[in-house]
Amino acid sequence: MLLFLLGCSIGEPDWLAPSVVEGTPCSSAGVLPLTGQRTLRLFLDDTAPAIVAQHTRAAADYYRRIGLPLRIDGPPQRAPEPPLLGAGSAPEAILAPLIAFARQHAVPAQPDTILLVVMSLVIPESPAARWFSELSALSFSPQLTQLAAEQTGIDLRAYLGEDFTPMVILSGEALSVRRPGKHDMLLAHELGHALGLAHETDPDNLLRQERWFSCIPVLTDAQREQIVR
Ligand SMILES: [Zn+2]
Repeated sequence: MLLFLLGCSIGEPDWLAPSVVEGTPCSSAGVLPLTGQRTLRLFLDDTAPAIVAQHTRAAADYYRRIGLPLRIDGPPQRAPEPPLLGAGSAPEAILAPLIAFARQHAVPAQPDTILLVVMSLVIPESPAARWFSELSALSFSPQLTQLAAEQTGIDLRAYLGEDFTPMVILSGEALSVRRPGKHDMLLAHELGHALGLAHETDPDNLLRQERWFSCIPVLTDAQREQIVR
């Protein structure tokens, strides 16, 4: 879930410069090398560019460590307005802006690209705001649509077909208010979903649901195999 130039600072190439994730690996799991790279296409609202860049660099550093470099595709584009989770109380109305964005940018699928959208996710005071007030991120991947449909009743394949460009939509509020300057693994976790990985229960794993890491989370060989497939 996931256009016009913003201030020049957000287009700086140092967005993906190393910003070393501190700590040691949580465990020694995962040695299978990855190959290739992924391209991030950015869509941003007015969330402080420096904060978005911090999180993006931390995530890029994480994936560089595990052998999957990320690159930014062109200057960031303007995130849609209003928020992707719309007004109204029916699920269709709430999802309509998200579906419209995805139809415009995520199909046809672009191999090895991930749409990264940082924006205000919900319209304040709307029903969606009550349901999603603590929402930090939403991620969509063709590999996870079946699982998402089972868990949420929302089947994106009905709107986007079987294959589409994965999307990570981060709450600007979550980044700038709730975790400013926190170089945690939120974005790296969400990119894991975009790469097709589901949640794991191992506390050392990047895809565990509660992610207050004091060490660098790991991926198993099975997860790495899934990413390179
Ligand atoms: Zn997750």
